[in-house]
Amino acid sequence: MIIEQATIPTTWDKRFRYLFERMPFGHETIALARWTASHGIVRYLGEWHTHPEDDPHPSDLDISEWRRLSAKRRDGRPMLAVIVGRKSLYAELVPNLGRGPVFAPVE
Ligand SMILES: [Zn+2]
Repeated sequence: MIIEQATIPTTWDKRFRYLFERMPFGHETIALARWTASHGIVRYLGEWHTHPEDDPHPSDLDISEWRRLSAKRRDGRPMLAVIVGRKSLYAELVPNLGRGPVFAPVE
């Protein structure tokens, strides 16, 4: 898995200090265009957002939203969920049921 491209918030997304609501239209359109242009080599892996904490942890809302998005995947693969904190990242592979593996940083 190589993260080569990521979308940034669009003008339709709702951004607040403690809440980010991603509107699907801009991001899905971009992901589909990149998948089509690369003949399926560049594909959707998951979602990312930031938290105003040093070492971020997912909220209950994050976890339920990740499960919902993972269940929508047509290929049945888990979704990569990333939270960017002020000092570290939180990264998890989220299956459509239960919790998936959480990645640890390489020291
Ligand atoms: Zn969050």
